[in-house]
Amino acid sequence: MNIRKLLTFGRKQFVWLSITFNIVLILLVFIFVLKYETEVYFSEQFYPMEYTTRDTVNFFWPDNNKMALSITFDDARISQIDSGGISILDKYDVKGTFYVSPENLAPHIDDWKRAIENGHEIGNHTTTHPCSVNFGWHRRKTLENYSLTDIYNDINTANKIIAEVLGVQPVSFAYPCGQTFVGMGVNAKSYVPLISSMFESGRLYSSGTVNPVFCDMAQLPAESIDNKSFEEILELIENARKKGQWLILTGHDVGEHNDTGYNLVTSKITLEAICKYASDPTNGIWIDNVHNIASYINDKRDEKPFIYLSEYKKPSGSLYSKLWSVCYISKMKIAYYKYKIGQKIKSL
Ligand SMILES: [Zn+2]
Repeated sequence: MNIRKLLTFGRKQFVWLSITFNIVLILLVFIFVLKYETEVYFSEQFYPMEYTTRDTVNFFWPDNNKMALSITFDDARISQIDSGGISILDKYDVKGTFYVSPENLAPHIDDWKRAIENGHEIGNHTTTHPCSVNFGWHRRKTLENYSLTDIYNDINTANKIIAEVLGVQPVSFAYPCGQTFVGMGVNAKSYVPLISSMFESGRLYSSGTVNPVFCDMAQLPAESIDNKSFEEILELIENARKKGQWLILTGHDVGEHNDTGYNLVTSKITLEAICKYASDPTNGIWIDNVHNIASYINDKRDEKPFIYLSEYKKPSGSLYSKLWSVCYISKMKIAYYKYKIGQKIKSL
């Protein structure tokens, strides 16, 4: 009797085990197929772009200005807030663009929200900041090791985190390390078309100014502001003004070189001098955030305002991004509350 009971019990367990095993197997195959499908889709998709020569565009900057200027910062480094970077912009009513790394936002969420209220723009800079293996990144996090699906999930996750934590939907993107590829060798691919479908603009990290009539909005050059004097930046401004172009400046930490211990540092003296100079109307500069200038250019070029292209929304990508963003947001919330409790304890 007991043996029969035991056998029945064992058979029941076996049935449940095999059902579970089969479900897991089907799910794994499903995920694999979806991932593969997405990859094929990305590599074969048709890039919908209306071709126009733009030869007849009558372009001019507003208010008789001779050029446009944007000040941007990457990575949401603490010194951009702690060392007074945003305060300097606010003092001169200059609106900047901050391409944020979500994990650095945590302790200063309130300050970033205030920055948005003051007219600053929050851009996407991916979730994990993948760059080339040659930059010393962990091998799993390198662009050589990424597929288009991976980079899509990474960027989409950052969008979800920013929307959840700061309440804004980014329309501007900055390529980490200014690199625009994934994969390697014969399998390398550009992710510029992906950025073009997801954002109004994509900012590089290479020297040059933007030709407003003919530029590709998904590949805007930018000059580094780090470790430079005002005189060096003034030379770039004069060059852009002569050509009637858009100069985008980009920095990382804010402070004086020796204070921060980092090697990419925007001097507060330089930053203040730029803001002061650009705010003087006699210098003919329209200084504003990337989105305001990019949308003005689009309008003058008679192009449609930016919309997120829905054909890139793939179920597997959305599911991955959703799960990943929930995990990141929980981590950030814990870090945020830890910081707040720490502050309270300090003030006691
Ligand atoms: Zn960066």
